[in-house]
Amino acid sequence: MTDYRVGFGYDSHRFATGIPLFLGGVNIPSEKGCVAHSDGDALIHAICDALLGAAALDDIGTHFPDKDSAFKNIDSTILLKKVVGMVHAKGFQIQNMDASILLECPKLAPFVSLIRQSLSKILEIEETGISIKAKTNEKMGFVGREEGIAVYVVVMIKKDYER
Ligand code: MG
Repeated sequence: MTDYRVGFGYDSHRFATGIPLFLGGVNIPSEKGCVAHSDGDALIHAICDALLGAAALDDIGTHFPDKDSAFKNIDSTILLKKVVGMVHAKGFQIQNMDASILLECPKLAPFVSLIRQSLSKILEIEETGISIKAKTNEKMGFVGREEGIAVYVVVMIKKDYER
């Protein structure tokens, strides 16, 4: 018997000029980056919350509080590795993930392959199980005004039981 769980994660960050933009552990050339306590990798933060949600392990803010100086400017890939470890410790394997990244610019198409490679290593799954979609918000709202980024992620995890 196999126990399948889905998880959903969301993250958003405000943009500011002159700081690096990280998505999925990849430094994306951009005029603007994310203002954050950590390195502001909104994709990784949304993946963390999706995985934690799937395993019913609270949320990223509970495990890595932004008031804690230990996490200041931290490389978010370190946080995701910890979350993957927590999911594995519960006996689950990651099946796949699917992300929608909303931002007006830069265009992410040239970097999708790099992001999938980066996440494949951290999540310990094949790239075929990792989907990255990028789209604009048609100039509407905070994303449309290029004030920030929003990311939505779903994941599936599974645990096999002997019967
Ligand atoms: Mg975040």
